[in-house]
Amino acid sequence: MSGVGKGIATSSIGKILQSKNYKVNPIKVDPYLNVDAGTMNPTEHGEVFVLDSGLECDQDLGNYERFMDIDLKPDNYMTSGMVYQYVIEKERNLGYKGKCVEAIPHITGEITRRIQKSAEMSGADISIIEIGGTVGDYQNIMFIEAARTLKLKNPDDVIFVLVSYLPIPSTLGEMKTRPTQNAVRNLNSYGVQPEIIIARGAAPLDERRKEKIAVSCNIAVENVVSAPDVESVYDVPINFEKDNLSGIILKTLKLKKKSEEDMKEWRAFADRVKSSKEEVNIAVIGKYFDTGDFVLSDAYISVIEAAKYSAYSLGKKLKLTWLNSKDLESGDKEVSMLGDFDGVIVPGGFGESGIEGKLKAIKFVRENKIPYLGLCYGMQLAVIEYARNVLGLKDANTTEIDPNSKNPVIDIMFNQKKNMEDGRYGGTMRLGAYKAVLEKDTIARAAYGEDEVWERHRHRYEVNSDYIKKIESAGMIFSGKSPNGTLMEIAELPKSAHPFFLGTQFHPEFKARPLHPHPLFTEFMKVAIARKKK
Ligand code: GLN
Repeated sequence: MSGVGKGIATSSIGKILQSKNYKVNPIKVDPYLNVDAGTMNPTEHGEVFVLDSGLECDQDLGNYERFMDIDLKPDNYMTSGMVYQYVIEKERNLGYKGKCVEAIPHITGEITRRIQKSAEMSGADISIIEIGGTVGDYQNIMFIEAARTLKLKNPDDVIFVLVSYLPIPSTLGEMKTRPTQNAVRNLNSYGVQPEIIIARGAAPLDERRKEKIAVSCNIAVENVVSAPDVESVYDVPINFEKDNLSGIILKTLKLKKKSEEDMKEWRAFADRVKSSKEEVNIAVIGKYFDTGDFVLSDAYISVIEAAKYSAYSLGKKLKLTWLNSKDLESGDKEVSMLGDFDGVIVPGGFGESGIEGKLKAIKFVRENKIPYLGLCYGMQLAVIEYARNVLGLKDANTTEIDPNSKNPVIDIMFNQKKNMEDGRYGGTMRLGAYKAVLEKDTIARAAYGEDEVWERHRHRYEVNSDYIKKIESAGMIFSGKSPNGTLMEIAELPKSAHPFFLGTQFHPEFKARPLHPHPLFTEFMKVAIARKKK
């Protein structure tokens, strides 16, 4: 079922296979009809993750990239919408040469074609395909059927892993295996027999239950792997290895061991996560709070992860406090409480709600020299705040909120106007990796230690070029620009004015990795820690 940890299980399987020197290619399959995740509200489906290519996809691809430290391609993600759209267009172009086009075999055939293409293009030894949803759903049946045919054609090359949940009803206090047995029976009815079961649950699986599952589900007892809840998700690959999961997978795939396990760096990182005790207190001002904590952390997962990696790399533990921007709108007391934090982050966002609260917060942190990191919207709002309160353009705004603003310091990008007029929203933002050239003697240039960087984007609005000179003459520095100099990619205040006040038009969080923290997050965190010490 969703939320059971398939994404982390898939990422961790990738990690342990990599650690044995296998090249791995993870593919996420999402059953929904959206052609990509870009049109979905983060409260519905969590964060929209963006690849270098600009594809807007499921947050699990972020987990894959972070755990496996690889850059994924559009082929690594597939939705029902994508598959159906392709098949229907092909049909319209007589691509099926007059045949009657049906879910089976044409949709399933397109699914396996995509999987095989991705596997080949990646040059990987092993592809891991994560099928979203629950066994028994109608929505993912085509994908399971496609996987069955893959196995039929390549019996030695395809294995099935079921990630199952074993509940412990509080009235009983004992773990129940029956839902897992039923899930396997359900899979069997599709013609699929799992070779490995990953048994998720609040507690470890005991031997008796392992055997029960093995016998009733028709699999070897050593192929039932216990995966209890852990304090830190970074321990999951390490725990899998305790149960020799990579050995089991390689054996089942009849692949030879290429090398001994090498997860030294990962283990050191996982240890650091647990040994870092002293906290650095960061506030994140957001708006996707509608459905409680669970969704909240899902909606901003890359930001949270990026901040954690930088904190851990400095031997500190991240303490995040979520502040609802709407709450900051009314009360000055709430705003002045920001002084209690070591740093403040305003992440990306869209639309009007909570904006005045964020602007108030940015003014406060700028004036009180509290470290500030603005991501995308967080950068645009920092520019608006500066224009309003330093340049004195009281009505400065973004045309996203006020299309008739007299001082549109943030304006829609030229080529985006037509998209909006025509109502073309899906996949039309400025998306993916673009190069930025960094200005000498700036915080950004020093943090990166490079003159040029590639970062991932997702926006329609930009700093209005009519205002760049004015803003610069008032003291704000555009320390990163597109190679032709027209697009402002990073805005910062000089160190003489503020210890760390920096915003990026791009999303650095999409490129932060446990073993390679992002330099801008790390620089922000260093200054936050220094403030804490003071
Ligand atoms: N809403 C802003 C834009 O479209 C910022 C987008 C974001 O934060 N990702 O430009």
